[in-house]
Amino acid sequence: MSKISGKETKPEIIVRKFLFSKGFRYRKNVSNLPGKPDIVLPKYKSIIFVHGCFWHNHNCKAAKLPDTRKEFWTKKISDNKTRDEKNRGVLKKMGWKVFIVWECEIKNKNNREKRLELLINQITQNEQLFKTS
Ligand SMILES: [Zn+2]
Repeated sequence: MSKISGKETKPEIIVRKFLFSKGFRYRKNVSNLPGKPDIVLPKYKSIIFVHGCFWHNHNCKAAKLPDTRKEFWTKKISDNKTRDEKNRGVLKKMGWKVFIVWECEIKNKNNREKRLELLINQITQNEQLFKTS
């Protein structure tokens, strides 16, 4: 919970390293795009947000609110979620494909590879769509 403004949270690094190892080149923490995306792949017109489950209200047990100051957290997290949705909407209108990788999806090493392979498939599929249209 302590990493709300951390520029390089660990899950982001995992995703970046994976992409890099597969030959993808990206920009990171792009501040002139809505939501300051963690990873931007201009060549594929794709944006990846690596979301912490708690802060971005993932539908999983890692997103469970603490028992203390419940009202505060409910408001805070719901504001985050609203902002996320708004940012995604704007980015899509700008023509970006927006992907979200959740912290819990890549936490476990066994799931990680599969999850990130899927991500890459989705990103490159988009490119083919652009080419043929
Ligand atoms: Zn989660």
